[in-house]
Parts: sequence; structure tokens; C-alpha cells
Amino acid sequence: MDAAMNLRRVAVLGATGSIGASALDVIARHPDRFQVTVLAAGRQLQALLDLCRTHQPTHAVIADEQLYPALRDGLRAAGLATQPHAGSAALDQLAASDACDTVVAAIVGAAGLSSTLAAAAAGKRILLANKESLVLAGELLTRTAERAGAEIIPIDSEHSAIFQCLRSRDASLDGAGVRRILLTASGGPFRGRRRADLEQVTPAQAVAHPKWSMGPKISVDSATLMNKGLEVIEAHHLFHVPAQRIQVLVHPQSLVHSLVEFIDGSTLAQMGLPDMRTTLAVGLGWPQRIEAGVGGLDLLAQGRLDFEAPDTDAFPCLALAWQAMDAGGTAPAVLNAANEEAVSAFLQGRVGFLAIPALVANALSTLPAEPADTLEVLLSADQRARQLTLNAIAAA
Ligand code: NDP
Repeated sequence: MDAAMNLRRVAVLGATGSIGASALDVIARHPDRFQVTVLAAGRQLQALLDLCRTHQPTHAVIADEQLYPALRDGLRAAGLATQPHAGSAALDQLAASDACDTVVAAIVGAAGLSSTLAAAAAGKRILLANKESLVLAGELLTRTAERAGAEIIPIDSEHSAIFQCLRSRDASLDGAGVRRILLTASGGPFRGRRRADLEQVTPAQAVAHPKWSMGPKISVDSATLMNKGLEVIEAHHLFHVPAQRIQVLVHPQSLVHSLVEFIDGSTLAQMGLPDMRTTLAVGLGWPQRIEAGVGGLDLLAQGRLDFEAPDTDAFPCLALAWQAMDAGGTAPAVLNAANEEAVSAFLQGRVGFLAIPALVANALSTLPAEPADTLEVLLSADQRARQLTLNAIAAA
């Protein structure tokens, strides 16, 4: 068979971010397997142009429509044949088009939902890093993917670990003999601190994650433990696990990425260095294993593995996420939207660290959960939670 016919054509959405960089690093190691056909970014025009020079995609998309002329002119000046596009509609259309068969969904926040849904409806292989889309519209997204035959491969290291232990996402819990899922958490930069010690922490301290190098939003989510809360909801949707069968374990070394316990008493864990290129290689190559540029584990050098219970008093965001998942309907969308606005305000120095859980709790108690059977209902809940949170920030 013609080698070109076996090439996976990959769209990297969120190409200028941390996951985007890891994905492109793995892809570039396998020119015989993968071809980057679409690169998409939010606002970082120069970084997108640099990536286009390196990867020479067929299409480049900048979400901010005002940057379209600069993208077009920059591509032309670089002598590239890459076609320029702008705006979220163009992004959705390309994610669903024949330009790609694989979509790395690595846009941060609810902004990633629309293109992820478009890729799901078009039956693509989706390497799903954008956990917020599952929190906001988990049932809708998984149902859309199932109907269209799209394959969702989780990129979050914990969910990739569970996926690898189960060897698929389809293995329904009971059929696979799964008793429970143990989701590990690093504990973030403030592990071990009491609530009172968190009053004055700064954005720079919050984004300085001890183990992972990530974008600012997820880094703050790791510091508040909201990231783990979002991941509990994500695991619930990806693996059809009821909440009572998910346990969070703080594991500061971040080497055991998660575990699955089976009814016969076996527990399988997936381990590796904290480097997202491993999970991206799993998603790109699955079911084959491909080189990721990541070394193996030297357990003798690492010495020990510790596990402890999460402190939900100092880090109430984890409990808020459980609360939202239990309430169901629009509650996870409200949780996610309030959190995005609160984290953004914290990063801009407009509110303190402890305001993040307070603002999320306020949104959840002010906007009671409603049944969420359509995308419109979910997006409306998202918008109301954002407005409510922005008003609360302005009034503070
Ligand atoms: P970054 O902040 O590093 O990157 C975010 C990317 O999203 C950038 O390319 C940004 O473009 C793009 N973007 C932002 N807003 C829009 C928009 N409205 N339309 C189109 N593109 C947009 O984030 P990360 O790479 O750290 O995280 C990405 C996702 O992956 C998140 O959902 C995160 O939770 C998840 N994830 C990340 C992990 C990590 O190790 N980083 C681990 C597990 C999950 P630009 O910068 O050009 O504006």
C-alpha cells in the first residue's frame, strides 16, 4: 500500500499551548506516520506562524478574527502554501473536515467544546486534553462520539492511565470486572498547607507546579485541587463510573498516574515520568506503542512512592466538584464556568486564591441544577454562571 495512505492527518487545536507543543514534539518524531494538516491557536499569532514554518500544515486557524490579515500576510511573507482561516466557525469546520482524521483537542477551557463536538460528530479520533468540554457537556459529547463512531482517547495522564489499564474506553465497568478507580493527584504546589496559609499566595506561586509543566489555567486548577475535581467528572463520563466508585489519592511523586481495582482483588497501575508526551504518544499511536522521547522510570533513583488523602478543608474545590457531579444536570457546567472566570481573575491579580472556591460555591448555590438535555441549556447555564461570577468579582 502507498505509504502516504497510512499517514494519519492530524489537526492540533491549541497548537501554541503546552499540550500542543508536546503533541507536535511527538508527531515530529514520526514523519512516516503523521502529517500535521491543521494548526489552530487562540491569539498568539507569531507563535502560530513559527509553527507553520516548522510543520507546514495545509491550514492554519487563528481564533481571534481580527488577526486574520496578519496571519494571511505572515504566511505569504514566509512563502508558505498554508491556507489562513480565522474564527471559531472555521475551526469547527476544519475539525470536522477531510483535512484531518485525528484531532488533538488541546484548547483550554469551555472555548474548546465547539470544535471537540464538531470532531466527534464527524467521527474523528479525538485526543482529548480539553477536559472542560467533558465537564460542561459530558453526556452530549460522549453520545455524539458514540453515534458517529468517533474514538475518544483521553490525554489527561490520569485518564490515559485508566484507559491503558482497561485497554479501551469501551470496557463497561461491570463487563470489565472493575471495582473502582483510584485517581492520583500530585497535591499541587500548596500540598500540606492549611487553609489560613493560602490567603496570600500569589499567581506566580500557584503556577509553579512541582512536577508538571503546564499552561496557567490548569496549573492554578492543580493548586486549588479543582483540576482533580474536574478529572473526577471527566472519569465519570469517559468510563461510565458512578461517583462512589472513584477515589482520589494524593501521590506527590506523580509517577503512578492512576490505578484500576478489579473485583478479583487485582489493582493495575500505569506509571511513568510526568511528561505529557507519553500520553500523547499513546493517543497518536494506539493500539501501537510509539517512541515519545520520554525515558523510562528509574525506581531506585526515585526511592519511594507516597499516598495520602486529599485535604478538602484547605482545598474545598474538590468537594465542590463532587457536589456538582451529584447534583448533575447543569451543575457541572456552572462549576466549570465559575471556575474559569475565578481563575482568570486570580491570574490577573483581581481576587485572592481563596476567592476561587468561594466564587464557585456562590455560583453553585445561586444557580440550582436544572436538567441538561440540550447544548443550548448547557451553554445558557455556562453564560449565567460567568456573568454571576463576573458580577461577584466586580462587587468584591
Ligand atoms: P495552554 O494555556 O498552554 O494552551 C492553551 C491553548 O488554547 C493555546 O494554544 C491557546 O492559544 C488556545 N486557546 C485559548 N483560547 C482559545 C480560543 N478561544 N480558541 C482557540 N484556541 C484557544 O494550556 P494547556 O496546553 O496547559 O492545556 C490545554 C488543555 O489541556 C486544557 O483543557 C488542560 O486542562 C488540558 N490538559 C493540560 C495538561 C498539561 O500538561 N498542560 C495536562 C492535562 C490536560 P493562544 O495561546 O494562541 O491564545
